[in-house]
Amino acid sequence: MPDTTPFRIGQGFDVHAFGEGDHVTIGGVRIPHERGFVAHSDGDVAIHALCDAMLGALAMGDIGVHFPPGDPRWKGADSRLFLRRCRELIGERGWRLGNADVTIVCERPKIGPHAAAMREVIAADLGVAADAISVKATTTEPREALWRALTPQLFRRGGLTRALEAARRAGTAITDEAMAMERLGLKPRLVEGREDNLKITTPADLALAEFILSRAF
Ligand SMILES: [Zn+2]
Repeated sequence: MPDTTPFRIGQGFDVHAFGEGDHVTIGGVRIPHERGFVAHSDGDVAIHALCDAMLGALAMGDIGVHFPPGDPRWKGADSRLFLRRCRELIGERGWRLGNADVTIVCERPKIGPHAAAMREVIAADLGVAADAISVKATTTEPREALWRALTPQLFRRGGLTRALEAARRAGTAITDEAMAMERLGLKPRLVEGREDNLKITTPADLALAEFILSRAF
């Protein structure tokens, strides 16, 4: 039975870590940057996600199936090759891309100044008008606003037993000791954490603590 679906929708998602380098390539545009991407190819996240979306729309697997990362042919490859190949792959099955809406999530480099160039590059490779390709950029929570919370490590024994006993009597479900203390109106004091002041929960934590202690003395 022929496929009578008038159109299909696919989606893609990609992440690459930063590593050594002096530029990144995103949406086919080379952007000078103090770091590069760690990737087998050029690490073009926008194009990789777009390829996955195109392949996904036709249930043809993903970019890794068609361009295996272990293949030396793709070492440092310009990802636009993948994009043009995906266009061919869907074309061979009688499909063509209608439009694409790409969202790039990153803090730096700034994408905005390059978005128009990315649209041109992608549209050219896919043989569509630039207004069929949208490139949007957004950031996540600034890293400076993030902080790591380690659960409190130290309790006065009297206060802790009182708090746990009170919670038990009240039949309150508590998830940790700090919560029990807070129920008694005792406020945990937050202190600045340190790498060597770690909570020991698993055997691996204990091994790490032993290592730190062996270096300290
Ligand atoms: Zn990728």
